[in-house]
Amino acid sequence: MTRSGPRRSPDVTAARRTTPMPVSVVHQAQDFVGKVLGRPPHTMRGLQNNVVWRQGVQVMRMDLHCHTAVSHDCRTALRDIPGWMLRTNTRVIAVTDHDQQRGGPELQAIVADMGLADRLSVVPGEEITTSEGELIGLFLHERIPPGLTPEDTVREIKAQGGLVMLQHGFDPLKRYRLRPEATVRIADHIDIVETFNSRLSQHRWNHTADEWARARRLPTCAGSDAHTLRDIGEAWVETPFRTVDSPAALLAALREGTVAGKWTHPVYAYGRKQWRFFNQQFRRD
Ligand SMILES: [Zn+2]
Repeated sequence: MTRSGPRRSPDVTAARRTTPMPVSVVHQAQDFVGKVLGRPPHTMRGLQNNVVWRQGVQVMRMDLHCHTAVSHDCRTALRDIPGWMLRTNTRVIAVTDHDQQRGGPELQAIVADMGLADRLSVVPGEEITTSEGELIGLFLHERIPPGLTPEDTVREIKAQGGLVMLQHGFDPLKRYRLRPEATVRIADHIDIVETFNSRLSQHRWNHTADEWARARRLPTCAGSDAHTLRDIGEAWVETPFRTVDSPAALLAALREGTVAGKWTHPVYAYGRKQWRFFNQQFRRD
């Protein structure tokens, strides 16, 4: 085990200290005056708001596969996420907890309370365990129960006006990937293919996903599959900055975007996650 753990960033610590709710009368008054003077809201103090421009256009990153403490195997507190998003210019994330949907709406409420709704977008999603592996639904209003067939899961997602995303679909070592037979059966209903996942057993399975998506002319995206705060934004689609609050807006942003990311060997990533959990025990809040 290495002795040097991940360094704690002052910005993240600052984000943790600023409790978004409830907003005091003093803060409301400060924010009102601040708005008149064109200053950022009080919750932005101490946060690093990284704005990136390319050839005169403000760009942002989108990470469409993130877990939070709502997942059984993740401890990332929702309130810590907005500060990290600003810091990494990851202005759109999809919250895709295992068989849970409530993380997305809860994070949206926190972002709104922090006065950051015009800077950060949260897509409410769910990584759903079907009877034949996992599928992601985006823009969901309600939780979809696990255990349905892939076809029924797709039907539930579409009934809510959501988008079907195929994540880590081509890595044979991913235990919960959607079975290849099921992928073929529902192929016509897939809206987005994750062609960069940071946690595959081998990066080449991302290329396979990319080829599959291109053959079908489907939009491609990236997902960090983050299970710690610092993993969020490790895979991204870079695209011109905008608010993403609908399936149409997301698809438009993907069409103009470029998929990229950092791949980490899953064994190393698992060790790092355990180290971060261990470290977290001793962190002062
Ligand atoms: Zn996942």
